[in-house]
Amino acid sequence: MDELYQEIILDHHRNPRHRDGCVGCTLSVHQDNPLCGDEITLGLEIEDGVIVRAGYEGQGCSISTASASMMAESVKGQPVARARALFEMMRRMMHGESPDEDLGDLMALGGVARFPVRVKCALLPWTALNEALDKEGDA
Ligand code: ZN
Repeated sequence: MDELYQEIILDHHRNPRHRDGCVGCTLSVHQDNPLCGDEITLGLEIEDGVIVRAGYEGQGCSISTASASMMAESVKGQPVARARALFEMMRRMMHGESPDEDLGDLMALGGVARFPVRVKCALLPWTALNEALDKEGDA
């Protein structure tokens, strides 16, 4: 099982999805993790409560890159409420709790919970997502 999960993470790290930024996106958020040198600038476009576009630019370790790729892939096309629920489940999973449902590829990141120093790497893109959604709420 662990090997399969490592494959998923490596695949997203080598072939990150949606890492071409989000030109013209109305929401943009920057987050970094100085402990590791991970950086992300996340862009979202939300229409009628649905995330119609999601993209990012950034660099970092394999965990943060893979997490960003999976995050963008899993929230694109989803309602804001669903994206918030995913953020909550990821946050809890990184603190060792089992998610309420099978999160597919995202489950691959669950193993990171055993390495507290990497938890921030895995959560960085999700923290950016949550901050972007908060901004949208203020708009
Ligand atoms: Zn990192």
